[in-house]
Amino acid sequence: MRIPDDKIEEVRATVELVDVAGEYTRMKRSGSRYKGLCPFHDENTPSFTVDPEKNLYHCFGCKAGGDLFKFVQEVEGMSFIESVRMLAERAGVDLPEGDAPEESDKRAGIHHALRFAANFYFKRLMRSDEGEAALRYLHERGFEDDTIKEFGLGWAPDAWDGLLEAAQEEQIKPETLEEAGLVKARKKSDGYYDRFRGRIMFPILSHVGKVLG
Ligand SMILES: [Zn+2]
Repeated sequence: MRIPDDKIEEVRATVELVDVAGEYTRMKRSGSRYKGLCPFHDENTPSFTVDPEKNLYHCFGCKAGGDLFKFVQEVEGMSFIESVRMLAERAGVDLPEGDAPEESDKRAGIHHALRFAANFYFKRLMRSDEGEAALRYLHERGFEDDTIKEFGLGWAPDAWDGLLEAAQEEQIKPETLEEAGLVKARKKSDGYYDRFRGRIMFPILSHVGKVLG
């Protein structure tokens, strides 16, 4: 995944290195520069400096030095791309949707969760006492079993953790379910709860049969 140069420059022009460095060590103005205790080596007298004009840092003690991205890479142990992504988020600079491994892993995880949920709701509709009323309702509305199956309709049980518990057995993380829009985080305590409860589910299928949400 390549991040366009102009985006990188936009981030560089937006984020002040002295602000970022200030989150790791106290920076004090000293002439045209800022000084602080070096985050890269142990010291009692500040020898770490940031030039706010050039947006560069330099340590007279351990000779560490570089630009905004180098600083984040070094201090956080990140790759260059990771540092750009982190700083872009901070700067509010939109980066193109990446094919970085972690991104596609995440998408695959969400896709898996949506498929699992669609199947879970479908089974609840077809094979549970609770789904019976919903199924009757659909039949009365002219939906035949074939149609219900084809469109992947389902029944969300009237419970706060029906999907959550079933997903847990499949080792699908609540965080992934949340990203898929299937559960919500509790506001007043830890944990999550099912977003859809006691309702008929109409998953949106793309033309290749992928569950979109
Ligand atoms: Zn140093």
